[in-house]
Amino acid sequence: MGTIRFQALQTALSHKPKKVKEPAKKRSEIFGENIFNAESIKAYTTKETFLILLDAIHNGKKIDRKTADQVALAMKSWAIQRGATHFTHWFQPLTGATAEKHDAFFDLDSSGVALETFDGGKLVQQEPDASSFPNGGIRNTFEARGYTAWDPGSPAFIIGTTLCIPTIFVSYTGESLDYKVPLLKSLMFIDQTATDVARYFDKNINKVISTIGIEQEYFLIDKALADSRPDIQLAGRMLIGHQPAKGQQLDDHYFGSIPERALSYMRDLEIECIRLGIPIKTRHNEVAPNQFELAPIHEEASLAVDHNSLLMDLMQKIAKKHNFTVLFHEKPFSGVNGSGKHNNWSLSTDTGVNLLSPGKTPKSNLQFLTFFINTIKAVHDNADLLRASISSAGNDHRLGANEAPPSIISVFIGKHLTEVLDELENVSDGRLTPEEKTELKLNVVGKIPEILLDNTDRNRTSPMAFTGNKFEFRAVGSSANCAKSMTVLNMIVANQLKKFKSEVDHLIDEKEMKKDDAIFNVLRELIKESKKIRFEGDGYSNEWVEIANSRGLKNINNTPEALKVQISKESIGMFESTQIMSPLEVHARYEIELENYIKKIQIESRILGDISQNHIIPTAITYQNKLIENVRGHKEIFGSLHKEFSGEQVKLIQQISKYIGSIINDVELMTEERKIANKLEDLEKKADAYCNKVIPYFSKIRYACDKLELLIDDEIWPLTKYREILFTR
Ligand code: ADP
Ligand code: MG
Repeated sequence: MGTIRFQALQTALSHKPKKVKEPAKKRSEIFGENIFNAESIKAYTTKETFLILLDAIHNGKKIDRKTADQVALAMKSWAIQRGATHFTHWFQPLTGATAEKHDAFFDLDSSGVALETFDGGKLVQQEPDASSFPNGGIRNTFEARGYTAWDPGSPAFIIGTTLCIPTIFVSYTGESLDYKVPLLKSLMFIDQTATDVARYFDKNINKVISTIGIEQEYFLIDKALADSRPDIQLAGRMLIGHQPAKGQQLDDHYFGSIPERALSYMRDLEIECIRLGIPIKTRHNEVAPNQFELAPIHEEASLAVDHNSLLMDLMQKIAKKHNFTVLFHEKPFSGVNGSGKHNNWSLSTDTGVNLLSPGKTPKSNLQFLTFFINTIKAVHDNADLLRASISSAGNDHRLGANEAPPSIISVFIGKHLTEVLDELENVSDGRLTPEEKTELKLNVVGKIPEILLDNTDRNRTSPMAFTGNKFEFRAVGSSANCAKSMTVLNMIVANQLKKFKSEVDHLIDEKEMKKDDAIFNVLRELIKESKKIRFEGDGYSNEWVEIANSRGLKNINNTPEALKVQISKESIGMFESTQIMSPLEVHARYEIELENYIKKIQIESRILGDISQNHIIPTAITYQNKLIENVRGHKEIFGSLHKEFSGEQVKLIQQISKYIGSIINDVELMTEERKIANKLEDLEKKADAYCNKVIPYFSKIRYACDKLELLIDDEIWPLTKYREILFTR
């Protein structure tokens, strides 16, 4: 056995579950103790400052310098009392990871006296050396300045001895350089448009927020085993490796008891999360071996997204303490289920109503139907943009690849709601007769509460499923920063609501229709227009590919193609008219994403070349020599080669030669294609080349390597195997 593989296995077997001490207090009592929340703000500052800050948090009011100084003072005292020595602005640049730059509170005053300082200026703005973050050409190097600016909507928190202040990240000229700014703008936009529409039903509504609950799937792999594989270490996934005799066929992992080592990791993680105000609620095994899922309770969207980013950081950090590596890659192991991030999404009013929750009265039903149908219409009209928002090199393996479901965006709503929409659709044109109205209301009212009881009617193959009081967008990749897709979802729904409002107002003002009639009439048309996006069947089936095709729904199965939609005239127009992103920002992001894609594939291709040439081929040759010696021995004994006794051995030698040859050949060809691609100046062409010319070699090379894994003596195989990675406990 390869030394590295042997040692990794030894080490992995010696890893025992770590003891985790449950805090003395209940979890509800430690919840948020490491964040500067309303309670701590109140305790550390004046009532006046507290109220101004609250207004900023909930209503986005600007904070003046004096208040910022007061808040900074309070934050400093609070943080230092908890042992913090440093502070940092914490932000989400377009690298996909989070970034921080630590500064000490410690300082010397003009007379050389040591003290702890922190003021409003430092709280509100920092200038990290931004030149190393992706900007898609927005910042020329001579103005390589970027600013982080405090986001009071997300509470500051302490990790270890550092006070982390959530911020946005913008360029000197004001363009956004992070995921958060567009998200915040989309939230403002949906607040406006959804509030306008919600006020048809209730004049007391003054604000609508988008709520998100993010289920995070991941793999937990022993660190020693993960580190023993160059591909897992560098690309987060296994580029080669034959599937084990047992995979997930038995479904024995799903909802099974959580292995002890993993459980102690999860408990440790949960305690840290709870202290940081991340409301983790559920944990369970997923379908694949060593795959798990964790879900917090839903929160206001931008907070939920911050919490998900923070959670991913924590998961990695705490995993190290437990000798685990967390894999967020969308498809670390071929033949085994991939990981996603299910974004449960809804809208909620300041009167405490979930706008996607079917109510009991006709009025709230109409309100529910309005938001429900408008969301479906938004997805219908913008399916390709939504598809673009979830595309990445990793997610390509989950969407539309060999073993993945097709990447067709569709919406599942269940049997009862389908009936409700069918009924609405068939109401006659023009004004509703009183009878029609009563009948409609009665039928609709009669049906909707059933939805809540209808738990069996859950389609797990739909990328966007309505699940009783929210939509679950399941196609988001597990490694993604979900701000991107949530920005798009909020934007397209908000934009649709705006159109809806103007159509309804038109009917009321110009056609003198009653409000309810006008709403029903517009909804009926929306149902008709968006019908083709609704699909209730098996989204993983081949049949669906055909149906979708005949309906004219797109099935875009790779990132370069998917991303193009973002820079279409319509998309840019929508980003611009909704003031979520300027054309410059959209183009910059497009470039960054293409570059990201190219780099990921380039790295994978290099690793694949290295592993196959440096690990697989030498091993294959060693083994082949052993066989040759063996056959030579045969010759010695039998005088000449004996077909019956030596035939199979000779065949083996030939097979090994064949695979060695094909690997060498394909790696060479792949490297050539890479060279050609690298010379291309145009990013789009380069990404296409990587996608269509380089990637096809991956499966060819893998096929030959995996065949060799089956032929070659396990004793000398250098790479840790699937079985060992997935089943060593
Ligand atoms: P399942 O595995 O059945 O999909 P989970 O309980 O794992 O369900 O996750 C459901 C997620 O949906 C949770 O994060 C939950 O907080 C979230 N959720 C529930 N109601 C809403 C809502 N109104 N808006 C957004 N998310 C919601
Ligand atoms: Mg779910």
